[in-house]
This record gives sequence, structure tokens and C-alpha cells, in this order.
Amino acid sequence: MKIAVVGTGYVGLVTGVCFAESGNEVTCIDIDEKKISELKAGRLPIYEPDLDTYFKRSSNEGRLNFTTDLSDGLKGAQAIFLALPTPPGLDGSADLSYILGAAKDLGTLLDHYAVIINKSTVPVGTAERVRAEIQKNAKIEFDVISNPEFLREGLAVSDFMNPDRVVIGTTSQKAKKIMKELYEPFVKEGNPILFMDERSAEMTKYAANAFLAMKISFMNEIANLSEKVGANVDDIRLGIGTDDRIGKRFLFPGIGYGGSCFPKDVMALYKTAEEYKYDFKILRAVTEVNQLQKRTIFNKVSDYFKGDLKGRTFALWGLAFKPDTDDIREAPALELIDLLIDAGASVRAFDPEAAVNVKKLYGDTPKLELTDHQYEALKEADALLIATEWDLFRSPDFKTIVKELKQPVIFDGRNLYDPHKLKKLGFHYESIGRSSSDV
Ligand code: NAD
Repeated sequence: MKIAVVGTGYVGLVTGVCFAESGNEVTCIDIDEKKISELKAGRLPIYEPDLDTYFKRSSNEGRLNFTTDLSDGLKGAQAIFLALPTPPGLDGSADLSYILGAAKDLGTLLDHYAVIINKSTVPVGTAERVRAEIQKNAKIEFDVISNPEFLREGLAVSDFMNPDRVVIGTTSQKAKKIMKELYEPFVKEGNPILFMDERSAEMTKYAANAFLAMKISFMNEIANLSEKVGANVDDIRLGIGTDDRIGKRFLFPGIGYGGSCFPKDVMALYKTAEEYKYDFKILRAVTEVNQLQKRTIFNKVSDYFKGDLKGRTFALWGLAFKPDTDDIREAPALELIDLLIDAGASVRAFDPEAAVNVKKLYGDTPKLELTDHQYEALKEADALLIATEWDLFRSPDFKTIVKELKQPVIFDGRNLYDPHKLKKLGFHYESIGRSSSDV
């Protein structure tokens, strides 16, 4: 099938590459000329495991093309995916200007039947608004449907290729047939394609993200209380996760959720509720807990050094908002850097993939140095802080850490190490939700 993907970011690019891998002819469109020329030259703008292999194969075989010209990209496309940004507006509700802007253009450009598929995370009622916007100028028949994306950065390709479920919101039989044809190759193992109305599909995406964010904030509160009462959150996590009704996943405490989705989606759902005069109390708490949790490591560091952080240097391992991605949007590490610098400290940071993006954001800030090697960040630092659970941080050479740091002190925001082992090695080690009596 001929497919167009409007917006070639994390979601759009993975969508385009994966549909091309299953044999479709895909054109990815973006307004970012630099991004498109890099892609045309065979270079990926993001890091995502396995993406490169599929990208190269489909590009070389001519099934995957890139353009900045919308009308060119739409030619003959039966399915047009919108994978455009929906950032928070000033009041926290989703900004739909990218989506509605594209819809306006589609209205004037479409010259054949197509299904316009919204993959972006959008508030209830957006499909209707997109339809109305296209309709203003449309000369042909078309369908607008909702197909929210559930991929996780760091696992995006494998999530897209083997989705737990595909959610499709439409009542159009014609659109259903096209969507079934597109997605059937990805659900061969029997995972469901769930058809529902558009509003329910739009809401499903927010409900999923808000629920996951709630799980994280809940565990962070359990962790904080565990520290106070002298309990160990690792044991509690296993103790509750073995209950099928709760499940083992997403129960790890840490320094708060970040990324481009959870913070904005929780807020956008809260705003939708507000619009319908419904006070969604849990969501307010989820966000509030997360904002406080992002300061946890800073507070622990500040307590340990009795507020005297001026002139100190801290090594920081991990900048991405989670492992296996170079995405730093809303990453807790950034807040930690800002708090430390504001307190007069310097930061020497290492991340295997995200340093380039941090460099772009911070420029040549004198108090932030980015290193090429994880141990280089430790030199003469007052403590090591860990913000992202990359695999390569899991079994470090502790002897080198002791040798390089001024003193053996680690603040671990991701509970990577065994407190007993670190105590034996002579470290002062603080983590999340494991009280000092565990150490
Ligand atoms: P992104 O910022 O990585 O990519 C968006 C792309 O759209 C950018 O390349 C931008 O240049 C391009 N763009 C903007 N205006 C355009 C226009 N008029 N025409 C063509 N291209 C245009 O965003 P993303 O992370 O891919 O997210 C897209 C949507 O998917 C959001 O609604 C997000 O909430 C949702 N989502 C994201 C993820 C994720 O993990 N990133 C997962 C599921 C859903």
C-alpha cells in the first residue's frame, strides 16, 4: 500500500520505517529541511535500537522515501498518518495547532480518497475537529480516524513490530478494511486489533499513559515512606508485584518520570477533565508527586553536604530520560543539573547517547562538562550521582570509582546497586526507598 507519514519524529520515523519493512511504499514528510536531507543521505536523526537496519534496507530497496513537500508526499497515498507534535499549551492542555494546520493543508491538497490516521496523542474530539478542518476545502471523500501509538522510546521498533494491541477508532467500514490490511502483518501471534469509536480510542491513549504515570508516582510515594519507616521498597515491590492483579512491571521507584509523553499527557487529560467540569483528583496528585520526586537526589546530596554545595563538583551518570534513547525531553537529569548549578556546584556528566542533545541545549555552560567516558566524569568529583539506568552502569568497576572520586559517595536515583555490597566496599551509598537500616 502507498502510505504517507506527516511528521518524521520518533513516532513518524518508526511508523514509516516499520510499514516500509512490511512491504509498503512509504513517504515520510517533515518541515525540518535539515532532518530530511540527513535522512535522504542515509543518516538517522535519532538513536533507537534496530531502527538503522530496517531504515537502510527499505531505503536501499526504494520503499522508503523522504520529502519536505507535502503535496509530493501525498501522491497516491491511501493511508496518511499524522505523527505531529502535540506539546502542552500555556495552560497545560494539548496544543493542536500542528495537527489542525496539517488538516487545513490536506483539505486543499487531497485529490483522491484516503484515510487520515491520527497517531499523535490528542484530546477527545480531535478527530471530529480534523475532519471539519479538512472538510472546509475538500473536494473528495475521505475518512479521519484515531490510531494512537503506544510505542516506548528505547523499544520503539520492537513495540511497533510486535504491539500488545492496536487501537483503531473509526466507524467507517472502508477505513477499517484499510487499517486491518496495514496492521495484520504485525499481529500474527494473535494480539488484538481493537476497533472502537474515535473518542474512545483517543481517550484510551491518555488513560494508558496516565495509569502508568500513576503507578510510578504511587511507587515513589511508597519508596519515600519506606525510607522513613525503615522498610525496603525492593522487597515491597516484589511482594506486591507477584500479585497478578498488580503485575511486576512499572513498579520501580526512582527520581520521577520524564520524556515527551507522561508529563504532558497527564496534564492534558487533567485539562480535558477540567473542560468537562470534572475534578480528576488523582491526576493532580500524580503530577505533584512527580515534580517533588525529581528533586529527591538533589535533596539527598544537599543534606549529606549540609547545604554546602558551592564550588563542589558532581559526577553524573545518565542524562536521557530513560535508557536506550537519546531523548532528554523533561529528563529528571536536567532538573538535577540545574539545581546543582544554581547551588554553585559544577557537573561532569556522561551518557552513552544523550550527551549530544544536552550539548545542544546547554551550549558551553561553564559549569557543565560532558565527558566521552563514564569514568572520566568521576575525576576529583565529590560524589557520583546516577539519573538513568543504562545497562553499562549496572556493573561498574567500583575500584576505579573509589580511585577517581574525592571520597566514595554515591547517590543512586535508580537503585542499581546492592546497598550491603556497597557498604562492604566502603561507600556511602544512598538510593531510593531503601532506608539507612538496609545499609
Ligand atoms: P517529535 O517532536 O519527535 O516529531 C514531530 C515531527 O513533526 C518533527 O520532526 C517536526 O519537525 C515535524 N513537524 C512539525 N510540524 C510539521 C508539519 N506541519 N508538517 C510536517 N512535519 C511537521 O514528536 P514525537 O515524539 O514523534 O511525537 C509525535 C506525537 O506522538 C505526539 O503527539 C506524542 O505525544 C505522540 N507519541 C509519542 C511517543 C514517543 O515515545 N515519542 C509515543 C507515543 C505517542
